[in-house]
Amino acid sequence: MIPESLATVGYLFAAILFIQALAGLSNQETARRGNIYGIVGMVIAIAVTIGIVADLAWAWAIGPVVAGATIGVLWASTVPMTSMPQMVAILNSFVGLGAVFVSYSSFLDPPAGLTGVEQTIHDIEVYVDVTVGALTFTGSVIAYGKLGGMIRSQPVLVPGRHLLNLVVLGVVVGAGVPFVGEMSAANLMWLSLNAGLAGLLGLHMVMAIGGADMPVVVSLLNSYSGWAAAAAGFLLSNDLLIITGALVGSSGAILSYIMCRGMNRSLTNVILGGWGTQAGGGSSEGGEDQGDATSVETDEVVQALRGAERVVIVPGYGMAVAGAQHAVSRLTDKLRDAGVEVRFAIHPVAGRMPGHMNVLLAEADVPYDIVDELEVANRSLGETDVALVVGANDIVNPDAVDDPSTPIYGMPQIEVWNAKRVVIVKRSLSPGYAGVPNPLFYRDNTWMYFGDATDRVEDLLAAID
Ligand code: NDP
Repeated sequence: MIPESLATVGYLFAAILFIQALAGLSNQETARRGNIYGIVGMVIAIAVTIGIVADLAWAWAIGPVVAGATIGVLWASTVPMTSMPQMVAILNSFVGLGAVFVSYSSFLDPPAGLTGVEQTIHDIEVYVDVTVGALTFTGSVIAYGKLGGMIRSQPVLVPGRHLLNLVVLGVVVGAGVPFVGEMSAANLMWLSLNAGLAGLLGLHMVMAIGGADMPVVVSLLNSYSGWAAAAAGFLLSNDLLIITGALVGSSGAILSYIMCRGMNRSLTNVILGGWGTQAGGGSSEGGEDQGDATSVETDEVVQALRGAERVVIVPGYGMAVAGAQHAVSRLTDKLRDAGVEVRFAIHPVAGRMPGHMNVLLAEADVPYDIVDELEVANRSLGETDVALVVGANDIVNPDAVDDPSTPIYGMPQIEVWNAKRVVIVKRSLSPGYAGVPNPLFYRDNTWMYFGDATDRVEDLLAAID
């Protein structure tokens, strides 16, 4: 067992590294360094935690740590980039489940000598941690299913769902009163009722969220997992877990706020689970004749690109699926070498996780200084000759701006339709993640360049000399 002073210094050092990691991750150029800070911090944290375990009990921790680390390394190094969002969601669920286990163990085997106020505080910690942990666990499992396509992304809206949520919440809070009061044999039952109902609440809330709102939910669950970890830190009297949990909880909350702004949604709306979402959302009303989409071949697109002075590329989830970022990067180089001004327009919720497109473009060595955020990009799309949309859909939907009946109405868009020519690379006319039809495909200045994003961009590369 290592001395307490050494453990304190180790934990402090790890906490500083975690803060450095967050600071590094906030910028693409320093993100790799930030990641390394995080890894080193975590190694120190685990080593110190094993070191402070009394007697030979640490030997029990070695097996799970080695097994967990091995699975984590193998999993993270083989997971395709397109499956990262669901991996993050399922990892969030582990934090929730871990918090529930810690609470149960602290309830069944409480620290010795707790009486009076200390006992009450301990009971509240246990109860709250089980609530947040169970809600995070089931909510994240559903988010995992929705992001991975195992569960339909459309909202499932049970009649009277808000009343149902309210009643469940009321019972959760109500069952906490006898639990925190006298020690009794029924306490295990109250705690388990809490775990079951909080789990049901998490499940129901995320099921009710429509596809387009999922970015907010993922960051929100990430925030919940942080608070669950912080609460577990209080139970275990572990300062580092409290600090780390608070860091994750607050950064997740800030990210949720940013995502809400990106979607033009209020946080309460999303937290309440589909408030204001219409049942069966995901189909634009009206069903008016959209006309015919104009399908073009490589020659026409090449001609448009050759004649352009300014091109804006809008990447979306399809670019990630096709792994087309490298071909897109080479196309960018080629056009820039030919004197064309090329810029990228990134929507905050493009892809399936925050920063998804930025990560892909950085991986493909696209220079950071030609990548614009939504507001900046929108300002100059009117002076753009060609807007090349690569595998994006929900983020370039004019109905979100014009049609109040569409479920994504109000979500800010990259307004590519203001460009002189819009070229959309995708395989079909099918909708995106939100399940909403896109009238952009049928506009006069839109060309559909059908096919897999990598194949089509490679075709352009081969044809442009
Ligand atoms: P969308 O899901 O709206 O559209 C992606 C399009 O890519 C599809 O319409 C598909 O059309 C096309 N596509 C798929 N595979 C290929 C391929 N191999 N080659 C070419 N095209 C392909 O993605 P967007 O990025 O536009 O929008 C993101 C959506 O995801 C939003 O609704 C957002 O709310 C949601 N979301 C975002 C999260 C985030 O944090 N960023 C998290 C969770 C959800 P086709 O099949 O015809 O090829």
